[in-house]
Amino acid sequence: MSEPATGRPIVHETLPHRVLVGPGARHAIPEETERLGVRRVLVVATGSARTAADELARALGPRLAARFDGPVVHTPVAVTAEAMELLRDRAADSVVAIGGGSAIGLAKALAVRAGLPQIAVPTTYAGSEVTPVLGETEGGVKTTRRDPAIAPGTVVYDPELTWTMPPGLTRTSALNALAHAVEALWAPDATVVSDALATEAADGILTALPEVLADPSGPAGRARLQQAAWLAGGCLAQTRMGLHHQLAHALGGTFDLPHAELHALLLAHVLAYNLPAAPKAAARLERITGGDPVTVIGELARGHTGPTTLGALGVPRDGLRAIAERIAAQPYPNPRTLQVDALVRLLDEAW
Ligand code: NAD
Repeated sequence: MSEPATGRPIVHETLPHRVLVGPGARHAIPEETERLGVRRVLVVATGSARTAADELARALGPRLAARFDGPVVHTPVAVTAEAMELLRDRAADSVVAIGGGSAIGLAKALAVRAGLPQIAVPTTYAGSEVTPVLGETEGGVKTTRRDPAIAPGTVVYDPELTWTMPPGLTRTSALNALAHAVEALWAPDATVVSDALATEAADGILTALPEVLADPSGPAGRARLQQAAWLAGGCLAQTRMGLHHQLAHALGGTFDLPHAELHALLLAHVLAYNLPAAPKAAARLERITGGDPVTVIGELARGHTGPTTLGALGVPRDGLRAIAERIAAQPYPNPRTLQVDALVRLLDEAW
């Protein structure tokens, strides 16, 4: 927790939202739409959630206004415009998103534009469903805004929707969630609440992830991992992001990289850079990992069977300095000063 300077309090805000949790929780969505008093639901889903979306469409019956099955990572505004047209054509009065952060991002973009209630049903561990944050891309540039009106009013955590998540996505998405918790531990606006969330999230992820990787369809491990990811999303909602998320935004936006894989491979490098300047985060993570957090988390990341370096993701090595310069010029708040040469070394290690 940071000590607020006299006269300048840290502001802790909790968003009002309802969360339904448990195996089969998705079956309560039609009832939830009744509670909201909506009559025409637009269902936004990714291909991976087609079965669940079909099932929901049947359960909604006449309350289904339309389906939009084309969300795209990083919420391009052109895709939002297309979905918005469908929403208006069919006079939808609410949005339900089923899928990863891409589906949830699109639903947030629609709901905030049209002022409609939304229900988010995540199938990954990205955490967007509990944040008031929306990142959108236009012309290759990603901008992020924060507004309470963006946050879904209802979130449904049904671990059954994660049972068939492939091991690669399970690992990288869980490490993406872990990054939210880690950055909350060293955030300048950390509070006792965010510390508690972050510590429990990191502990839960680092305990449940190896368990789930060993038994990907084990219901108990999946439920624990999803709940730890919920806490990690809460961290992202409450504290400001640091170097890790800044690197992910700069690299992901510039080179159009897969979100979870990028987060997964960066985390240990950012930990190595920041932990010497973040003793509280270091002590907590040492206690949780029972060793050196950089080694433990680095090994989890390197266990991925897909790309585990920036080079393998297709980032050109001669593009690293420009990223470092951009970050040092407009740094997110970070425990260690962001110097161009040190950032180039970090990026080169990750490359
Ligand atoms: P994603 O939603 O793009 O999904 C990645 C891939 O995995 C897709 O092909 C998807 O169909 C598939 N998938 C999703 N769930 C699956 C499952 N259970 N089983 C099998 N396949 C599945 O990826 P993501 O990492 O969840 O989300 C990334 C996006 O979310 C980015 O646009 C990112 O910026 C955004 N995000 C936003 C916030 C926020 O607070 N605003 C937080 C985290 C992520």
